[in-house]
Amino acid sequence: MAKKQFKSESKRLLDLMVNSIYTHREIFLRELISNASDAIDKLCYISLTDDKVGLSRDDFRISIKADKENRTLTIIDNGVGMTAKELETNLGVIAKSGSLQFKKDMNDKPDDIDIIGQFGVGFYSAFMVASRVIVTSRAYGEELAHRWVSEGSDGYTLEPYECEKTGCGTDIVIELKPDTEDEKYSDYLEEYTLHNLIKKYSDYVRWPIVMEVTKSRQVETDEVDESGNKKKTWEDYTEIDTINSRIPIWQRPKSDVSDADCAEFYKEKFFDHTDPTAVIRVSAEGLVSYQAMLFIPAVAPYDYFTREYKAGLQLYSSGIMIMEHCSDLLPEHFRFVRGVVESPDFSLNISREMLQHDRQLKVIANNIEKRIKTELKKIMDENLDKYEQFYKAFGIQIKYGIANGWGANKDMLSDLIMFYSSTAKKLIPLAEYVKNMPEEQKYIYYAAGENITLLEKLPQAEQVREKGYEILYLTEEIDEFVIRMLRAFEEKEFRSVNDEDLGIDTPEDKEDTERQETENKELLEFVKESLDGKVVSAKLSHKLKSHPCCLATQGEISLEMEKYFKAMQSRQDGMPEEMMRAQRVLELNADHPSFAALKGAFEHDKDKAAKYARLLYGQALLTAGVPLDDPNEFSELVSALLFG
Ligand code: ADP
Repeated sequence: MAKKQFKSESKRLLDLMVNSIYTHREIFLRELISNASDAIDKLCYISLTDDKVGLSRDDFRISIKADKENRTLTIIDNGVGMTAKELETNLGVIAKSGSLQFKKDMNDKPDDIDIIGQFGVGFYSAFMVASRVIVTSRAYGEELAHRWVSEGSDGYTLEPYECEKTGCGTDIVIELKPDTEDEKYSDYLEEYTLHNLIKKYSDYVRWPIVMEVTKSRQVETDEVDESGNKKKTWEDYTEIDTINSRIPIWQRPKSDVSDADCAEFYKEKFFDHTDPTAVIRVSAEGLVSYQAMLFIPAVAPYDYFTREYKAGLQLYSSGIMIMEHCSDLLPEHFRFVRGVVESPDFSLNISREMLQHDRQLKVIANNIEKRIKTELKKIMDENLDKYEQFYKAFGIQIKYGIANGWGANKDMLSDLIMFYSSTAKKLIPLAEYVKNMPEEQKYIYYAAGENITLLEKLPQAEQVREKGYEILYLTEEIDEFVIRMLRAFEEKEFRSVNDEDLGIDTPEDKEDTERQETENKELLEFVKESLDGKVVSAKLSHKLKSHPCCLATQGEISLEMEKYFKAMQSRQDGMPEEMMRAQRVLELNADHPSFAALKGAFEHDKDKAAKYARLLYGQALLTAGVPLDDPNEFSELVSALLFG
């Protein structure tokens, strides 16, 4: 029969497997057992509503058989099995999330094979120890079984197979590689080795993992001793034993489970290779009883910001997983949290629709949300560096949590966000900002823009900076929307450095500005007119120290928001132009030589004064990081003014 070829990326992974170093090879057993367990989960779930399965919960098991003579190790499950098509797609291609991540990592560090030991690479790991793998499977509800055989990267065969196997399920026969000087594959046939591997990696698997084990017992012999009693001797016998303790890790008392155990469990179950930032354990008794083990990952999964990522917690009832991604248990803003929740109170064949209306589920979801919040706040308070690491991975999710839903979640989330501080030169929590505020400082100042380098030079922030006030630099699109939702933090209002009134001017400053504005009323009106409706007004300002001009805005829409809406607009049609436009105000520095020049021109040469006005407006746009409407015209203007 012609061999079918693996997809090219599978081939590469297979080659890696085969060449991986010895200490990692042992995880193959864990991978095959967890596949078997998943397959049993699936059939057990079906059996809840389908009598035809004909098995009760106690009938399910995973058997491990070692055959020293033939050098084979066999893993047998009576789970859901695979159809021919499933064998082909599941075992013929590596396109699974875990494997893709693996490939990505391999590209990052091509020589580091260590990764294999760190997280699951699934079925293919069998090739680390096998010279040949034979999978025989009968899918639930099918008469015919199929056999898939492969010796590794040169392909596989797949054919229907008459087998003696009854019922559905899968047998995986591993023909071990020949022993070499360095590597003794035959170790995997030793009862002792297998026992230890099962204990080490698969102890919490819910289904019994059974194996034939050798035991000794005392038996009487025919010989009689001096006192007339029959002599005894030791005799070996074999028995099928359940090796794993089967109690899920989340059900074990906290004192029995180390942080390392939790991290190990997390990495294996959720395909991460970094330890989680935090583990949250909940054990609630009372109105609603449940246990939960939740993990806050340290890094975002590679697909986190794609549609592929499925948020939600695994839901268990009486040891059976009834839902893999129960999203109703997690609020959107904490969707990065992974974990399991188990409650005896859920009915097993509960549907998604029923869950949505389930009161118990709501109670659990509320508690879980609070627990996550408390944990995050605790990390922030106790270890800001650690929190920062978390925040860099998932902070944006929390910000979206505030911006979406019209601020419904702001009480829950506002003390979890951080922004970059102009004085601390790093991310700080809002509470920290407020704590640092001098008594006379009225507002929490922020500046929004492309990047920190630009923001550090923003002319309109000169006055705030000169006062020694801290400024929060907002560089993400969502940031200003977050500020709009919050409005204030600990009763201190937010204020953009672009705002017309920064609350810094003294009454004298204000009087001074007013006087100057009255004196220059006609000129300012002229500037506005010369700009053809691009600004709602032209003003004089104390904000500026060394710069000639800047842009301020009136109303709800800021310059950064305008940019954001524009980008949205190009993605989708909708919003009318006027609604997305920031109401610009051109602010001029009366103490700057440019103002004297403008004033001089206004008196003697109106045409030139109009050019100055347009030049200043262009400068203000550029320093605000807003593209010029017409760069050509601006360039001509500069030439005309400089070179006549
Ligand atoms: P993963 O388990 O990460 O999905 P694997 O390569 O280990 O990746 O397995 C691929 C798929 O093959 C599984 O998702 C499952 O659908 C199927 N599979 C593997 N082993 C078994 C088994 N013993 N019984 C039924 N299906 C299996």
